[in-house]
Amino acid sequence: MFRRTILTTMAAAALLLGCTAPLHAQQQALDSITAGELRMHLAFISADEMQGRDTPSPGLNMAALYLATRVEAYGLTPLMPDGSFYQTIPLSRTVLSRTSTLTAGGRTFMFPTDFGASGSTAADLTGELVLVGYGASDAEAGWDDYSGLDLQGKIAVLLEGELPEGHALRLGDNRRLRSMRTFTPAGAGAVAVLNVISPSRERAMTGAEFEVSTGGVSWPAGASSPPRSSSGGEQRGGAPRGGMQRGARIPVLELRHDAAAAVLGISRAELEAMFARLARGERIEGRALSGRQATIDLETDTLSEHTQNVVAMVPGSDPVLKDEYVVIGAHYDHVGIRHGAYPDSICNGADDNGSGTVSMLEIAQAMTIERPKRSVIFVWHAGEEKGLRGAWWFVQNCPVPLEKINAMLQMDMISRNDHDSICLIGSHFVSSELDAAHRRVCDRLGLIAIDDKYNDPDLPTNNYHRQSDHYAYHSYSIPATFFFSDITPELHTPADEIHLCDFDKAERVTKFVYASALELGNMPRMVALDRNPEITQRGQRISTGR
Ligand SMILES: [Zn+2]
Repeated sequence: MFRRTILTTMAAAALLLGCTAPLHAQQQALDSITAGELRMHLAFISADEMQGRDTPSPGLNMAALYLATRVEAYGLTPLMPDGSFYQTIPLSRTVLSRTSTLTAGGRTFMFPTDFGASGSTAADLTGELVLVGYGASDAEAGWDDYSGLDLQGKIAVLLEGELPEGHALRLGDNRRLRSMRTFTPAGAGAVAVLNVISPSRERAMTGAEFEVSTGGVSWPAGASSPPRSSSGGEQRGGAPRGGMQRGARIPVLELRHDAAAAVLGISRAELEAMFARLARGERIEGRALSGRQATIDLETDTLSEHTQNVVAMVPGSDPVLKDEYVVIGAHYDHVGIRHGAYPDSICNGADDNGSGTVSMLEIAQAMTIERPKRSVIFVWHAGEEKGLRGAWWFVQNCPVPLEKINAMLQMDMISRNDHDSICLIGSHFVSSELDAAHRRVCDRLGLIAIDDKYNDPDLPTNNYHRQSDHYAYHSYSIPATFFFSDITPELHTPADEIHLCDFDKAERVTKFVYASALELGNMPRMVALDRNPEITQRGQRISTGR
Protein backbone atom coordinates (compact mmCIF):
# COMPACT_ATOMS: atom_id res chain seq x y z
CA MET A 1 0.00 0.00 0.00
CA PHE A 2 2.79 2.34 0.84
CA ARG A 3 4.47 1.56 -2.45
CA ARG A 4 1.46 2.37 -4.57
CA THR A 5 1.33 5.76 -2.88
CA ILE A 6 4.96 6.41 -3.67
CA LEU A 7 4.57 5.57 -7.33
CA THR A 8 1.63 7.89 -7.58
CA THR A 9 3.53 10.66 -5.79
CA MET A 10 6.53 10.19 -7.99
CA ALA A 11 4.49 10.18 -11.17
CA ALA A 12 2.81 13.42 -10.09
CA ALA A 13 6.17 14.96 -9.24
CA ALA A 14 7.52 13.92 -12.62
CA LEU A 15 4.64 15.58 -14.40
CA LEU A 16 5.08 18.74 -12.35
CA LEU A 17 8.80 18.88 -13.08
CA GLY A 18 8.25 17.95 -16.69
CA CYS A 19 11.25 15.65 -16.67
CA THR A 20 10.24 12.03 -16.41
CA ALA A 21 13.58 10.53 -17.43
CA PRO A 22 15.65 11.12 -14.22
CA LEU A 23 12.80 10.02 -11.99
CA HIS A 24 12.32 6.97 -14.13
CA ALA A 25 16.01 6.22 -13.79
CA GLN A 26 15.85 6.82 -10.05
CA GLN A 27 12.94 4.41 -9.77
CA GLN A 28 14.88 1.85 -11.79
CA ALA A 29 17.82 2.31 -9.45
CA LEU A 30 15.56 1.91 -6.41
CA ASP A 31 14.02 -1.19 -7.95
CA SER A 32 17.49 -2.70 -8.38
CA ILE A 33 17.86 -2.80 -4.60
CA THR A 34 16.26 -6.08 -3.57
CA ALA A 35 15.94 -8.21 -0.46
CA GLY A 36 17.00 -11.21 -2.54
CA GLU A 37 20.33 -9.69 -3.56
CA LEU A 38 20.97 -8.45 -0.02
CA ARG A 39 20.42 -12.00 1.21
CA MET A 40 22.73 -13.42 -1.45
CA HIS A 41 25.59 -11.06 -0.54
CA LEU A 42 25.07 -11.63 3.17
CA ALA A 43 25.13 -15.40 2.72
CA PHE A 44 28.75 -14.92 1.63
CA ILE A 45 29.80 -12.15 4.03
CA SER A 46 28.36 -13.88 7.11
CA ALA A 47 29.43 -17.40 6.15
CA ASP A 48 31.44 -19.48 8.62
CA GLU A 49 34.25 -19.46 6.04
CA MET A 50 34.84 -15.76 6.90
CA GLN A 51 35.73 -16.92 10.45
CA GLY A 52 34.00 -13.94 12.05
CA ARG A 53 35.91 -11.27 10.04
CA ASP A 54 38.27 -10.28 12.83
CA THR A 55 40.76 -7.46 12.13
CA PRO A 56 43.28 -8.43 10.90
CA SER A 57 42.48 -11.93 9.63
CA PRO A 58 42.40 -14.00 6.45
CA GLY A 59 38.59 -14.08 6.76
CA LEU A 60 38.43 -10.28 6.68
CA ASN A 61 40.74 -10.24 3.65
CA MET A 62 38.40 -12.68 1.91
CA ALA A 63 35.44 -10.40 2.66
CA ALA A 64 37.45 -7.44 1.30
CA LEU A 65 38.20 -9.38 -1.87
CA TYR A 66 34.49 -10.10 -2.32
CA LEU A 67 33.61 -6.40 -1.95
CA ALA A 68 36.39 -5.22 -4.27
CA THR A 69 35.48 -7.81 -6.89
CA ARG A 70 31.83 -6.80 -6.78
CA VAL A 71 32.43 -3.05 -7.10
CA GLU A 72 34.86 -3.69 -9.94
CA ALA A 73 32.19 -5.72 -11.70
CA TYR A 74 29.67 -2.89 -11.16
CA GLY A 75 32.17 -0.55 -12.84
CA LEU A 76 33.03 1.64 -9.87
CA THR A 77 36.25 3.67 -9.93
CA PRO A 78 39.22 2.96 -7.65
CA LEU A 79 40.05 6.03 -5.59
CA MET A 80 43.36 5.18 -4.01
CA PRO A 81 46.46 6.67 -5.70
CA ASP A 82 47.77 3.21 -6.62
CA GLY A 83 44.61 2.46 -8.55
CA SER A 84 43.51 -0.12 -6.02
CA PHE A 85 40.23 -0.63 -4.21
CA TYR A 86 42.20 -1.18 -0.99
CA GLN A 87 43.34 1.51 1.41
CA THR A 88 46.11 -0.28 3.28
CA ILE A 89 46.49 0.14 7.05
CA PRO A 90 49.91 -0.99 8.32
CA LEU A 91 49.94 -2.99 11.55
CA SER A 92 52.49 -4.72 13.66
CA ARG A 93 52.02 -7.83 15.73
CA THR A 94 54.10 -9.01 18.65
CA VAL A 95 54.57 -12.76 19.12
CA LEU A 96 56.73 -14.81 21.43
CA SER A 97 60.01 -15.65 19.79
CA ARG A 98 61.27 -19.18 19.28
CA THR A 99 64.42 -18.06 21.08
CA SER A 100 62.46 -17.97 24.37
CA THR A 101 63.86 -20.35 26.97
CA LEU A 102 63.24 -21.90 30.35
CA THR A 103 66.36 -22.95 32.27
CA ALA A 104 66.24 -25.25 35.31
CA GLY A 105 68.28 -28.09 36.78
CA GLY A 106 71.20 -27.25 34.50
CA ARG A 107 69.12 -27.76 31.36
CA THR A 108 67.64 -25.26 28.91
CA PHE A 109 64.22 -25.83 27.36
CA MET A 110 62.86 -24.15 24.25
CA PHE A 111 59.58 -22.51 23.28
CA PRO A 112 57.33 -23.84 21.79
CA THR A 113 58.59 -27.46 21.77
CA ASP A 114 59.30 -27.99 25.48
CA PHE A 115 56.99 -25.39 26.91
CA GLY A 116 54.13 -23.17 25.83
CA ALA A 117 53.16 -19.66 26.89
CA SER A 118 50.07 -17.61 26.25
CA GLY A 119 50.21 -13.93 25.46
CA SER A 120 53.10 -12.11 23.86
CA THR A 121 54.84 -10.24 26.64
CA ALA A 122 58.58 -10.43 27.11
CA ALA A 123 59.90 -11.52 30.52
CA ASP A 124 63.28 -12.20 32.06
CA LEU A 125 63.15 -13.52 35.60
CA THR A 126 64.62 -16.03 37.98
CA GLY A 127 62.83 -17.41 40.99
CA GLU A 128 62.91 -20.17 43.56
CA LEU A 129 60.41 -22.91 42.95
CA VAL A 130 57.42 -23.83 45.08
CA LEU A 131 55.42 -26.95 44.28
CA VAL A 132 51.73 -26.28 44.92
CA GLY A 133 50.36 -29.68 43.86
CA TYR A 134 47.11 -29.42 41.93
CA GLY A 135 47.08 -25.70 42.68
CA ALA A 136 43.49 -25.32 43.82
CA SER A 137 41.98 -23.71 46.85
CA ASP A 138 38.30 -24.42 47.32
CA ALA A 139 36.81 -24.22 50.80
CA GLU A 140 33.56 -25.92 49.70
CA ALA A 141 35.50 -28.90 48.38
CA GLY A 142 37.68 -28.97 51.51
CA TRP A 143 40.81 -28.64 49.41
CA ASP A 144 43.59 -26.07 49.84
CA ASP A 145 46.95 -26.45 48.11
CA TYR A 146 48.23 -23.05 49.23
CA SER A 147 47.95 -22.99 53.01
CA GLY A 148 51.26 -22.38 54.72
CA LEU A 149 53.18 -21.75 51.50
CA ASP A 150 55.12 -18.54 50.87
CA LEU A 151 54.88 -17.67 47.18
CA GLN A 152 56.22 -14.10 47.36
CA GLY A 153 58.77 -13.66 44.56
CA LYS A 154 58.67 -17.40 43.80
CA ILE A 155 57.73 -19.48 40.78
CA ALA A 156 54.72 -21.73 41.44
CA VAL A 157 54.73 -25.20 39.89
CA LEU A 158 51.25 -26.72 39.37
CA LEU A 159 50.34 -30.22 38.26
CA GLU A 160 47.46 -30.33 35.79
CA GLY A 161 46.22 -33.59 37.22
CA GLU A 162 43.19 -35.52 36.06
CA LEU A 163 41.06 -35.90 39.16
CA PRO A 164 38.72 -38.89 39.32
CA GLU A 165 35.12 -38.73 38.18
CA GLY A 166 32.89 -37.25 40.89
CA HIS A 167 35.77 -35.57 42.76
CA ALA A 168 34.59 -32.55 44.80
CA LEU A 169 36.78 -30.14 42.77
CA ARG A 170 35.27 -31.37 39.52
CA LEU A 171 31.72 -30.65 40.60
CA GLY A 172 32.14 -26.90 40.31
CA ASP A 173 32.64 -24.65 37.34
CA ASN A 174 35.62 -25.82 35.29
CA ARG A 175 36.38 -22.38 33.95
CA ARG A 176 36.44 -20.95 37.47
CA LEU A 177 38.76 -23.74 38.57
CA ARG A 178 41.14 -23.08 35.69
CA SER A 179 41.36 -19.36 36.34
CA MET A 180 41.71 -19.95 40.10
CA ARG A 181 44.76 -22.17 39.47
CA THR A 182 46.40 -19.28 37.58
CA PHE A 183 45.25 -16.30 39.59
CA THR A 184 45.74 -17.63 43.11
CA PRO A 185 49.56 -17.82 42.79
CA ALA A 186 49.62 -14.38 41.15
CA GLY A 187 47.58 -12.98 44.03
CA ALA A 188 49.98 -14.56 46.52
CA GLY A 189 52.93 -12.74 44.99
CA ALA A 190 54.33 -15.45 42.69
CA VAL A 191 56.32 -14.08 39.74
CA ALA A 192 55.40 -16.89 37.34
CA VAL A 193 53.35 -20.08 37.06
CA LEU A 194 54.63 -23.32 35.56
CA ASN A 195 51.69 -25.57 34.78
CA VAL A 196 52.78 -29.17 34.17
CA ILE A 197 50.40 -30.53 31.52
CA SER A 198 48.29 -33.59 32.23
CA PRO A 199 49.48 -37.08 31.23
CA SER A 200 46.88 -37.27 28.45
CA ARG A 201 47.99 -33.92 27.00
CA GLU A 202 51.60 -35.06 27.30
CA ARG A 203 50.76 -38.14 25.23
CA ALA A 204 48.89 -36.05 22.66
CA MET A 205 51.84 -33.64 22.36
CA THR A 206 54.21 -36.30 21.03
CA GLY A 207 55.97 -34.71 18.08
CA ALA A 208 53.85 -31.57 18.36
CA GLU A 209 54.53 -28.01 19.46
CA PHE A 210 52.59 -25.67 21.70
CA GLU A 211 50.53 -23.10 19.90
CA VAL A 212 52.27 -19.77 19.31
CA SER A 213 49.76 -17.17 20.45
CA THR A 214 48.68 -14.81 17.68
CA GLY A 215 49.84 -11.96 19.90
CA GLY A 216 48.72 -8.38 20.29
CA VAL A 217 48.20 -6.10 17.31
CA SER A 218 49.63 -2.58 17.40
CA TRP A 219 47.83 0.03 15.31
CA PRO A 220 49.50 3.03 13.72
CA ALA A 221 48.77 6.40 15.35
CA GLY A 222 46.63 7.46 12.37
CA ALA A 223 44.14 4.68 13.14
CA SER A 224 43.25 6.15 16.51
CA SER A 225 41.31 9.11 17.74
CA PRO A 226 43.80 12.01 17.75
CA PRO A 227 43.97 14.51 20.64
CA ARG A 228 41.31 17.16 20.52
CA SER A 229 42.35 20.57 19.30
CA SER A 230 41.80 22.72 22.37
CA SER A 231 41.35 20.76 25.58
CA GLY A 232 43.71 17.93 24.68
CA GLY A 233 41.94 16.00 27.39
CA GLU A 234 41.34 12.87 25.39
CA GLN A 235 43.73 10.01 25.76
CA ARG A 236 45.66 9.08 22.65
CA GLY A 237 44.69 5.68 21.29
CA GLY A 238 48.01 4.16 20.27
CA ALA A 239 49.07 0.60 20.69
CA PRO A 240 47.11 -1.79 22.86
CA ARG A 241 48.97 -3.46 25.65
CA GLY A 242 50.28 -7.00 25.48
CA GLY A 243 48.55 -10.27 26.11
CA MET A 244 48.77 -10.41 29.89
CA GLN A 245 47.12 -7.13 30.82
CA ARG A 246 44.09 -8.62 32.54
CA GLY A 247 44.05 -10.68 35.71
CA ALA A 248 47.33 -12.51 36.19
CA ARG A 249 50.04 -10.17 34.97
CA ILE A 250 52.66 -12.86 35.40
CA PRO A 251 53.98 -15.34 32.83
CA VAL A 252 52.04 -18.62 32.77
CA LEU A 253 53.98 -21.42 31.11
CA GLU A 254 52.80 -24.90 30.15
CA LEU A 255 55.43 -27.56 30.70
CA ARG A 256 55.96 -30.89 29.00
CA HIS A 257 56.99 -33.67 31.30
CA ASP A 258 60.74 -33.77 30.48
CA ALA A 259 61.04 -30.09 31.33
CA ALA A 260 58.86 -30.55 34.42
CA ALA A 261 61.00 -33.38 35.79
CA ALA A 262 64.13 -31.25 35.33
CA VAL A 263 62.44 -28.27 37.00
CA LEU A 264 61.36 -30.37 39.98
CA GLY A 265 64.63 -32.34 40.13
CA ILE A 266 62.84 -35.67 39.98
CA SER A 267 62.65 -38.55 37.52
CA ARG A 268 59.87 -38.95 34.93
CA ALA A 269 58.71 -42.02 36.92
CA GLU A 270 58.39 -39.93 40.10
CA LEU A 271 56.44 -37.30 38.17
CA GLU A 272 54.06 -39.92 36.75
CA ALA A 273 53.60 -41.28 40.28
CA MET A 274 52.40 -37.85 41.44
CA PHE A 275 49.89 -37.73 38.58
CA ALA A 276 48.74 -41.22 39.51
CA ARG A 277 48.02 -40.02 43.05
CA LEU A 278 46.01 -37.06 41.72
CA ALA A 279 44.10 -39.49 39.49
CA ARG A 280 43.07 -41.30 42.67
CA GLY A 281 41.90 -38.00 44.14
CA GLU A 282 44.78 -37.65 46.59
CA ARG A 283 46.29 -34.28 47.31
CA ILE A 284 49.98 -33.64 46.53
CA GLU A 285 51.43 -31.80 49.50
CA GLY A 286 52.85 -28.42 48.48
CA ARG A 287 56.40 -27.47 49.50
CA ALA A 288 59.15 -25.00 48.80
CA LEU A 289 61.89 -26.60 46.70
CA SER A 290 64.65 -24.80 48.55
CA GLY A 291 67.78 -24.28 46.53
CA ARG A 292 66.03 -25.05 43.23
CA GLN A 293 65.31 -22.22 40.87
CA ALA A 294 64.29 -21.60 37.29
CA THR A 295 65.02 -18.80 34.83
CA ILE A 296 62.34 -17.74 32.37
CA ASP A 297 63.50 -15.72 29.37
CA LEU A 298 60.61 -14.83 27.06
CA GLU A 299 61.59 -12.82 24.01
CA THR A 300 59.33 -11.31 21.37
CA ASP A 301 59.39 -10.75 17.62
CA THR A 302 57.58 -7.91 15.89
CA LEU A 303 55.89 -8.91 12.65
CA SER A 304 54.72 -6.39 10.05
CA GLU A 305 51.17 -6.98 8.83
CA HIS A 306 48.40 -4.96 7.28
CA THR A 307 44.66 -4.76 6.91
CA GLN A 308 42.55 -2.59 4.64
CA ASN A 309 39.56 -0.41 4.10
CA VAL A 310 37.80 -1.09 0.80
CA VAL A 311 37.28 2.19 -1.07
CA ALA A 312 35.50 2.83 -4.37
CA MET A 313 33.87 5.77 -6.12
CA VAL A 314 31.04 6.61 -8.46
CA PRO A 315 32.16 9.87 -10.13
CA GLY A 316 29.62 12.69 -10.04
CA SER A 317 27.70 13.57 -13.20
CA ASP A 318 28.30 17.33 -12.91
CA PRO A 319 31.63 18.69 -14.20
CA VAL A 320 31.97 21.07 -11.23
CA LEU A 321 30.14 19.36 -8.38
CA LYS A 322 31.92 16.07 -9.06
CA ASP A 323 34.81 17.47 -7.02
CA GLU A 324 32.57 17.41 -3.97
CA TYR A 325 31.59 14.16 -2.30
CA VAL A 326 29.04 12.17 -0.40
CA VAL A 327 30.62 9.35 1.62
CA ILE A 328 28.71 6.15 2.36
CA GLY A 329 30.34 3.90 4.94
CA ALA A 330 29.90 0.71 6.92
CA HIS A 331 32.29 -1.51 8.82
CA TYR A 332 32.78 -4.93 7.27
CA ASP A 333 34.80 -6.41 10.14
CA HIS A 334 33.44 -8.25 13.15
CA VAL A 335 34.75 -9.86 16.34
CA GLY A 336 36.12 -13.15 15.01
CA ILE A 337 35.90 -16.42 16.89
CA ARG A 338 34.72 -16.64 20.46
CA HIS A 339 36.78 -19.40 22.01
CA GLY A 340 34.84 -21.70 24.24
CA ALA A 341 31.46 -20.72 22.82
CA TYR A 342 29.10 -23.63 22.44
CA PRO A 343 27.86 -25.17 20.16
CA ASP A 344 29.14 -22.63 17.64
CA SER A 345 32.17 -20.40 18.10
CA ILE A 346 32.17 -18.25 14.94
CA CYS A 347 30.69 -14.80 15.41
CA ASN A 348 29.22 -14.37 11.93
CA GLY A 349 28.12 -10.78 12.48
CA ALA A 350 25.19 -11.02 10.08
CA ASP A 351 23.41 -7.94 11.39
CA ASP A 352 26.60 -6.42 12.87
CA ASN A 353 27.63 -5.42 10.34
CA GLY A 354 27.09 -7.77 7.44
CA SER A 355 23.79 -5.94 6.96
CA GLY A 356 25.37 -2.51 6.41
CA THR A 357 28.17 -4.08 4.37
CA VAL A 358 25.85 -5.68 1.81
CA SER A 359 23.51 -2.70 1.81
CA MET A 360 26.42 -0.64 0.47
CA LEU A 361 26.90 -3.13 -2.36
CA GLU A 362 23.28 -2.66 -3.41
CA ILE A 363 23.64 1.13 -3.18
CA ALA A 364 26.82 0.96 -5.28
CA GLN A 365 25.01 -1.03 -7.92
CA ALA A 366 22.02 1.35 -7.88
CA MET A 367 24.40 4.32 -8.29
CA THR A 368 25.53 2.88 -11.60
CA ILE A 369 21.92 3.24 -12.80
CA GLU A 370 21.30 6.72 -11.39
CA ARG A 371 24.09 8.75 -9.83
CA PRO A 372 24.09 12.29 -8.42
CA LYS A 373 26.03 15.38 -9.49
CA ARG A 374 28.54 14.98 -6.65
CA SER A 375 30.82 11.98 -6.54
CA VAL A 376 29.89 9.19 -4.14
CA ILE A 377 32.66 7.49 -2.18
CA PHE A 378 32.06 4.04 -0.70
CA VAL A 379 34.21 3.08 2.28
CA TRP A 380 33.99 -0.34 3.89
CA HIS A 381 35.90 0.17 7.13
CA ALA A 382 38.06 -2.45 8.84
CA GLY A 383 38.69 -2.57 12.58
CA GLU A 384 35.50 -0.86 13.76
CA GLU A 385 35.23 -3.45 16.49
CA LYS A 386 38.79 -2.57 17.59
CA GLY A 387 37.95 1.11 18.11
CA LEU A 388 36.73 2.60 14.80
CA ARG A 389 40.26 2.02 13.46
CA GLY A 390 39.44 2.00 9.74
CA ALA A 391 37.26 5.10 10.00
CA TRP A 392 39.92 7.07 11.90
CA TRP A 393 42.45 5.95 9.32
CA PHE A 394 40.25 7.06 6.43
CA VAL A 395 39.54 10.54 7.79
CA GLN A 396 43.19 11.06 8.74
CA ASN A 397 44.51 9.68 5.44
CA CYS A 398 41.66 10.76 3.23
CA PRO A 399 42.27 10.52 -0.54
CA VAL A 400 40.03 13.61 -1.05
CA PRO A 401 39.99 16.93 0.90
CA LEU A 402 37.73 16.63 3.96
CA GLU A 403 36.38 20.15 3.22
CA LYS A 404 34.84 18.71 0.05
CA ILE A 405 32.76 16.02 1.77
CA ASN A 406 29.19 17.26 1.91
CA ALA A 407 28.02 14.56 4.29
CA MET A 408 28.67 11.01 5.46
CA LEU A 409 26.02 8.29 5.74
CA GLN A 410 26.90 5.33 7.90
CA MET A 411 25.13 2.01 8.41
CA ASP A 412 25.91 -0.29 11.30
CA MET A 413 23.23 -2.94 11.99
CA ILE A 414 20.18 -2.22 9.84
CA SER A 415 18.33 -5.53 9.57
CA ARG A 416 16.75 -6.24 12.94
CA ASN A 417 14.16 -5.09 15.47
CA ASP A 418 11.19 -2.92 14.50
CA HIS A 419 10.11 -3.82 10.95
CA ASP A 420 8.91 -0.34 9.99
CA SER A 421 11.41 2.12 11.46
CA ILE A 422 15.11 2.89 11.51
CA CYS A 423 16.98 4.93 14.13
CA LEU A 424 18.91 7.96 12.94
CA ILE A 425 21.74 9.24 15.12
CA GLY A 426 23.60 12.49 14.53
CA SER A 427 21.58 13.73 11.54
CA HIS A 428 21.06 17.18 13.09
CA PHE A 429 24.15 17.46 15.32
CA VAL A 430 26.15 19.41 12.71
CA SER A 431 23.66 20.44 10.05
CA SER A 432 19.91 21.01 10.18
CA GLU A 433 19.91 20.66 6.38
CA LEU A 434 21.26 17.11 6.56
CA ASP A 435 18.42 16.18 8.90
CA ALA A 436 15.88 17.96 6.68
CA ALA A 437 17.18 16.10 3.61
CA HIS A 438 16.53 12.75 5.31
CA ARG A 439 13.01 13.77 6.27
CA ARG A 440 12.20 14.97 2.75
CA VAL A 441 13.41 11.67 1.33
CA CYS A 442 11.61 9.68 3.99
CA ASP A 443 8.33 11.43 3.23
CA ARG A 444 8.76 11.06 -0.51
CA LEU A 445 9.61 7.36 -0.43
CA GLY A 446 7.19 6.44 2.33
CA LEU A 447 9.07 3.19 2.87
CA ILE A 448 10.18 3.34 6.47
CA ALA A 449 9.74 5.66 9.43
CA ILE A 450 12.52 7.57 11.21
CA ASP A 451 12.98 6.70 14.88
CA ASP A 452 14.61 9.60 16.74
CA LYS A 453 14.87 7.94 20.15
CA TYR A 454 18.70 8.10 20.12
CA ASN A 455 19.01 11.22 17.97
CA ASP A 456 19.90 13.56 20.82
CA PRO A 457 23.49 14.67 21.49
CA ASP A 458 22.75 15.17 25.19
CA LEU A 459 21.01 11.87 25.82
CA PRO A 460 22.79 10.50 28.87
CA THR A 461 21.37 7.01 28.53
CA ASN A 462 23.13 6.06 25.32
CA ASN A 463 26.53 6.51 23.85
CA TYR A 464 25.84 4.94 20.46
CA HIS A 465 26.88 8.18 18.77
CA ARG A 466 30.48 7.55 19.81
CA GLN A 467 30.41 3.83 19.12
CA SER A 468 30.35 3.57 15.38
CA ASP A 469 32.34 4.77 12.37
CA HIS A 470 30.42 7.98 11.58
CA TYR A 471 31.85 9.38 14.82
CA ALA A 472 35.33 9.70 13.28
CA TYR A 473 33.85 11.82 10.45
CA HIS A 474 31.74 13.78 12.91
CA SER A 475 34.90 14.51 14.92
CA TYR A 476 36.28 16.25 11.83
CA SER A 477 33.16 18.41 11.44
CA ILE A 478 31.65 16.39 8.60
CA PRO A 479 27.86 16.18 8.91
CA ALA A 480 27.22 12.48 9.46
CA THR A 481 24.18 10.28 10.00
CA PHE A 482 24.26 6.85 11.59
CA PHE A 483 21.50 4.46 10.43
CA PHE A 484 20.92 1.90 13.15
CA SER A 485 18.27 -0.72 13.90
CA ASP A 486 19.26 -0.87 17.61
CA ILE A 487 21.12 -3.57 19.46
CA THR A 488 19.98 -7.18 19.77
CA PRO A 489 20.48 -9.95 22.35
CA GLU A 490 22.65 -11.77 19.78
CA LEU A 491 25.09 -8.85 19.36
CA HIS A 492 28.74 -10.02 19.35
CA THR A 493 27.76 -13.66 19.87
CA PRO A 494 27.83 -16.62 17.47
CA ALA A 495 24.02 -16.30 17.33
CA ASP A 496 24.06 -13.11 15.20
CA GLU A 497 23.24 -15.12 12.09
CA ILE A 498 21.59 -14.56 8.74
CA HIS A 499 18.30 -16.31 9.54
CA LEU A 500 17.45 -13.55 12.03
CA CYS A 501 17.88 -10.74 9.49
CA ASP A 502 14.81 -8.96 8.18
CA PHE A 503 15.72 -8.47 4.52
CA ASP A 504 12.47 -6.72 3.69
CA LYS A 505 13.43 -4.07 6.23
CA ALA A 506 17.05 -3.99 5.06
CA GLU A 507 15.84 -3.40 1.49
CA ARG A 508 13.76 -0.40 2.56
CA VAL A 509 16.58 1.05 4.71
CA THR A 510 18.96 0.60 1.78
CA LYS A 511 16.61 2.45 -0.56
CA PHE A 512 16.28 5.22 2.03
CA VAL A 513 20.07 5.60 2.28
CA TYR A 514 20.50 5.44 -1.51
CA ALA A 515 17.86 8.13 -2.05
CA SER A 516 19.37 10.25 0.74
CA ALA A 517 22.77 10.05 -0.96
CA LEU A 518 21.19 11.17 -4.25
CA GLU A 519 19.50 14.07 -2.48
CA LEU A 520 22.76 15.14 -0.82
CA GLY A 521 24.65 14.62 -4.04
CA ASN A 522 22.33 16.77 -6.12
CA MET A 523 21.60 19.79 -3.91
CA PRO A 524 23.01 23.06 -5.29
CA ARG A 525 25.18 23.77 -2.22
CA MET A 526 26.64 21.55 0.48
CA VAL A 527 24.52 21.36 3.64
CA ALA A 528 25.03 24.28 6.03
CA LEU A 529 27.11 23.81 9.19
CA ASP A 530 24.52 25.55 11.32
CA ARG A 531 24.12 23.49 14.48
CA ASN A 532 27.35 23.66 16.45
CA PRO A 533 28.85 27.18 16.85
CA GLU A 534 32.29 25.63 17.23
CA ILE A 535 32.15 24.17 13.72
CA THR A 536 33.01 26.63 10.97
CA GLN A 537 34.41 24.32 8.31
CA ARG A 538 34.65 20.66 7.40
CA GLY A 539 37.93 19.00 8.31
CA GLN A 540 38.20 20.92 11.58
CA ARG A 541 38.90 18.68 14.59
CA ILE A 542 36.25 19.61 17.14
CA SER A 543 36.93 19.75 20.86
CA THR A 544 33.55 18.51 22.06
CA GLY A 545 32.39 14.98 21.58
CA ARG A 546 29.24 15.99 19.73
ZN1 LIG B 1 28.89 -2.78 14.34
